[in-house]
Amino acid sequence: MDLSTRIKLEIDSRRDELVALTQDLIRIPTLNPPGRHYREICDYLAERLARQGFKVELIRAHNAPGDSDAYPRWNLLARREGAAPGDCVHFNSHHDVVEVGHGWTRDPFGGEVEGDRVYGRGACDMKGGLAASVIAAEAFIAACPDYRGAIEISATADEESGGYGGVAYLAAQGYFAPERVQHVIIPEPLHKDQICLGHRGVWWAEIETHGRIAHGSMPFLGDSAIRHMSAVLAEMEETLYPLLASKRTEMPVIPEGARQSTLNVNAIHGGAPEQAPDFTGLPAPCVADRCRIVIDRRFLIEEQIDEVKSEITAMMERIRASRPGFSYEIRDLFEVQPTMTDRDAPVVRSTAAAIEAVLGREAAYVVSPGTYDQKHIDRIGRLKNCIAYGPGLLELAHQPDEWVGITDMSDAAKVMALVLAELLAA
Ligand SMILES: [Zn+2]
Repeated sequence: MDLSTRIKLEIDSRRDELVALTQDLIRIPTLNPPGRHYREICDYLAERLARQGFKVELIRAHNAPGDSDAYPRWNLLARREGAAPGDCVHFNSHHDVVEVGHGWTRDPFGGEVEGDRVYGRGACDMKGGLAASVIAAEAFIAACPDYRGAIEISATADEESGGYGGVAYLAAQGYFAPERVQHVIIPEPLHKDQICLGHRGVWWAEIETHGRIAHGSMPFLGDSAIRHMSAVLAEMEETLYPLLASKRTEMPVIPEGARQSTLNVNAIHGGAPEQAPDFTGLPAPCVADRCRIVIDRRFLIEEQIDEVKSEITAMMERIRASRPGFSYEIRDLFEVQPTMTDRDAPVVRSTAAAIEAVLGREAAYVVSPGTYDQKHIDRIGRLKNCIAYGPGLLELAHQPDEWVGITDMSDAAKVMALVLAELLAA
């Protein structure tokens, strides 16, 4: 029997174990924020992987954003050396999940199974992917005990809040340095027949317009920052949105609507602060002396971040030139460069071949509209040979009644194990 048949049989025989592992992971409510039960999930995985011969390290991201003694940012890194020198293949999953939210008809932390689905917060994003990668590694080791190189599995904190207490921290410590790790797969829920090559870039900024406070009955004695901001919003409608819509990308971003530059105004606030909902008084009449918006600009691999920023500055300057009393400030909040792994990169080619072998169809190549931990592996770790590939439907992430398909997990585990065979089999 050839290796790939043995691997598939090993995974088929572990189907119940795959479900049980996914359920166990869902039942540890690793909510972020604030970052609960991180140590517990790392201990659980460490114990399991140590039994499989992995050397396990528990790493706390001391002093990372959010790290405290009440909510320590724990990460697990497990490495299993093969019988001979060779490349290292690393599976990186985040272990945190977002808040439950409303609208559930299932226990979000029950790990209920019905038909071909496991339900729960984090089922698809991304405990199902984490479980699939663990089963893939275990099945590969059983089928090919004398592999060369090394297999690594990490479960990391805080992806949902930027990854600074997780992958960014590990990358800064050198855990993703190219001499240590050569191939990275992030089992985010991009679906079992798609390879996610990267993501668009991000720039968040706060724009503030200035005014002068006065009595609301005599607005002509002041200068309204809200009216100035409305000029900004009008200019965005008039010139900026059409410009962004005209910038198309070669990146295969999904959904299709994100295959261009986009801008969202995430928040707007002007004038006196809003009162708490239980406040029963009336507001005081004042002309707004400040108005702020937070913009969320997503940009393309064809764009430079400096151009993205100067586009906004140029727009603000145009308004200033024509609008008396207009003054403003722009504050950078956050930025991430776009990234896209080459289709000829070894991990991409191996995964594409494995998808074809398991599913009998060609892999699709996609790019994520938003960012994920690949940004840190690329920028801090300097490792380009990285993709996201995992079971689950992205549309279900962060939703009520989130679920992951059992057959999808099993198929994705087969793909991951065949990638190991391709890259590490002796
Ligand atoms: Zn995720």
